[in-house]
Amino acid sequence: MIIQFPSGPMANLQYLILNQNNREAVAIDPAWDASTPIQLASQHGCQITQIWITHGHFDHVNALSDLYERTRAHSYLYIPNLLNPLPPHSPIEEGQVLEFGEWTFHVMHTPGHSSDSVCFVSPNTAVASESKGDHTHISQSHPSTHSGVLICGDTLFVGACGRVDLPTSSPSQMMQSLHRLSELPPHTLVCPGHDYCKQKVGSILEERHHNPAMKRAMSL
Ligand SMILES: [Zn+2]
Repeated sequence: MIIQFPSGPMANLQYLILNQNNREAVAIDPAWDASTPIQLASQHGCQITQIWITHGHFDHVNALSDLYERTRAHSYLYIPNLLNPLPPHSPIEEGQVLEFGEWTFHVMHTPGHSSDSVCFVSPNTAVASESKGDHTHISQSHPSTHSGVLICGDTLFVGACGRVDLPTSSPSQMMQSLHRLSELPPHTLVCPGHDYCKQKVGSILEERHHNPAMKRAMSL
């Protein structure tokens, strides 16, 4: 199961991927508070052993050092030298496969919001998403509501995209990255890095129809 949960004062959304077979978990974008993902994993009988990072902005990583100190989990991110200091880590690259329990994610390098932005996509995986208070549970399931999962950091939001006026931003690269995401299977579940909309998750199909930034990217 993947759990989406809110964190901090900037409407961030974090993710935990749980492997209940070996009782390990991945924390994605640990920020603001290392206790919440640790406790959430523990409630499901898991310990955090890996940390995946969509990009190095402070609101996605400012609990990374604390989480490392408390779990000794190994980090995976695109451009390590953008973050300093950094606990033990491995760089990831376009096309790399990250397997964790029942999940297989592929790394997509999606610059635009920042040069180190990546998305994690698990294609063609039958999943159902279920709202549980302010959390969302995403489980592999038949019947399914979606096919595939896209964890997209600040590249794509429900109804918008990330800012492109920051250091290492590139508006033209953002258009190319959104174009790539628009070509994912339409029923891919969109799991963004912020809750800026009334929906915490979306689909590529909905974004293709309703997201102005994605519509512009598709027209180029
Ligand atoms: Zn950001």
